[in-house]
Amino acid sequence: MINVAIDGPAGAGKSTISRATAKELGFIYIDTGALYRTVGLNALRTGADLDNAESVAATLTDDLKVELRFIDGEQRMFLNSEDVSLAIRTPEASMAASKVSAVPAVREYLFDLQKKLAQENNCIMDGRDIGTVVLPDAKVKIFLTASPESRAKRRYDELCEKGMDVSFEDVLADMKQRDYNDSHREIAPLRPAKDAILLDTSGFELERSVALIIKTIKDNI
Ligand code: C5P
Repeated sequence: MINVAIDGPAGAGKSTISRATAKELGFIYIDTGALYRTVGLNALRTGADLDNAESVAATLTDDLKVELRFIDGEQRMFLNSEDVSLAIRTPEASMAASKVSAVPAVREYLFDLQKKLAQENNCIMDGRDIGTVVLPDAKVKIFLTASPESRAKRRYDELCEKGMDVSFEDVLADMKQRDYNDSHREIAPLRPAKDAILLDTSGFELERSVALIIKTIKDNI
């Protein structure tokens, strides 16, 4: 199977770019952030202390069901059989995802699922540690970045489009906090793999970013 790893900070355009690129190449697109968001949402709902690793690990019970399903070619997330694809997009769920993702038990819990998906499908998988930890043998590894302001602007526009009531300042502050959490945690911190291709998409139109990534992937597979 051909696996492409796309990592980078929140709002670098990973999901939009990966989805469009996967479509063009006929691969499936797997958004691993959605898995962490689902575990985060479950931790929020069950009242776990998100700053306490043991309390978060205790939410990973035997009867917890975190499922990723493809419906009309789109990834949807199910938490105990409830479709939570929209519920995981709130700022609270984003922050919960960022916190639970620093807990080793959570990363272990989600590792096999990600690995299995990649073994069974030609895929573009996006996240923070795909090139470094989950798929160290991925055929192509890309690390996407952009300035915090341009990433916050993208995320803010997305949330407004979904009808969520948020301020740009809050989105930017959240983004910076998550960047800090993601790159300073002990386990699987956000960093480019040694053999990753670095691409900065600040100020790029979507079409231009997609074209650049497709060319980069085609040149390398
Ligand atoms: O990509 P997205 O913003 O949806 O990810 C939500 C959170 O999940 C991130 O802030 C990050 O903390 C965590 N995450 C991770 N490893 C991944 C994907 C996401 O730690 N592979």
